[in-house]
Amino acid sequence: MSDEKTLFERIIDREVPADIVHETDTTLAFRDISPQAATHVLVVPKSRYRNVAELAAADPGLLADVVGTAATVAEREGLGDGYRVVFNTGADAGQTVFHVHAHVLGGEQLGHFGRYHQ
Ligand code: AMP
Repeated sequence: MSDEKTLFERIIDREVPADIVHETDTTLAFRDISPQAATHVLVVPKSRYRNVAELAAADPGLLADVVGTAATVAEREGLGDGYRVVFNTGADAGQTVFHVHAHVLGGEQLGHFGRYHQ
């Protein structure tokens, strides 16, 4: 893996500004710059893994922290009627930042997902 910091490590280190909504010892949550729902927050572990499968294999406790922070964010953002947690994994899924992150989406009725429609 490259030594160069990912965008999300630069946000964690406060080198790039972000709208941070929650932080724990092991995770950071901030608003997505291009929201795809009324509420769209990203949750990242402070340690870098490329994707959710690598995180699960290397540190399942840290994956549980990421999911726990997603639930905390959902509660604080008032998403009691439901929300979606998405881990895009790889190019076909549209992953663009290779530092694992959970998308937390909600705040309105969400559409179905799957095949790409132009
Ligand atoms: P993915 O496509 O799953 O890798 O998700 C990357 C997400 O990061 C996208 O939804 C982008 O809108 C979001 N993003 C990119 N740059 C920033 C930034 N500076 N602050 C917050 N979110 C960002």
